[in-house]
Amino acid sequence: MSIFQNARFFTTVNHLKDLPPTRAEIAFVGRSNAGKSSAINTLANHVRLAYVSKTPGRTQHINFFTLDKTEECYLVDLPGYGYAEVPEAVRAHWVQLLGRYLQTRQSLIGLLMIMDVRHPLKDLDRQMLDFFRDTGKPVHILLSKADKLSRQEQNKSLAAVKQALADYPGVSVQLFSSLKKQGVETVEGVVGAWLAP
Ligand code: GDP
Repeated sequence: MSIFQNARFFTTVNHLKDLPPTRAEIAFVGRSNAGKSSAINTLANHVRLAYVSKTPGRTQHINFFTLDKTEECYLVDLPGYGYAEVPEAVRAHWVQLLGRYLQTRQSLIGLLMIMDVRHPLKDLDRQMLDFFRDTGKPVHILLSKADKLSRQEQNKSLAAVKQALADYPGVSVQLFSSLKKQGVETVEGVVGAWLAP
């Protein structure tokens, strides 16, 4: 059975001091509208799982989902970045919360980054990769909404992103579609390897 299968909403956090103690976390990041919530729902095979992360007032927070019944492993839905209309005070809080989480969270073992296959590697995506590189932890990129492109165009985008990130050790890339459930097994394989003792 998929390692994502028993995911359940656990808690919402708005301050680092409130982060729950956990052993292992896999975090999702991505530009707003990249398809992050859809990807979480698709991986967990649960149509409304990430709905909570979309609730007004919670989009700028960190949402935790338990990944298995033993509650030893968590999915963490980080706030989407790149919203056009976010008040400066909210943005500043977000930058601090997200930045400090990514750089200091010991139980974070890897990052799943969602990028629209048609618009990959925007400035904020690159900043995020640069920012996270120092941790030495792996990043796996999902080029989402792959169904919007032909096979040939998908592969072209994949090759371009791989080439652009050749200097980033620990970064891997794949095609993904929530609509077509494309690439689900590959993500499971990557995350399974991260979680393997
Ligand atoms: P988030 O803001 O990153 O959480 O993005 P959402 O998951 O809410 O998706 C943003 C929009 O893209 C929504 O209209 C989704 O229906 C659409 N979308 C997400 N994933 C896919 C996909 O795999 N294929 C297609 N065609 N549309 C998608």
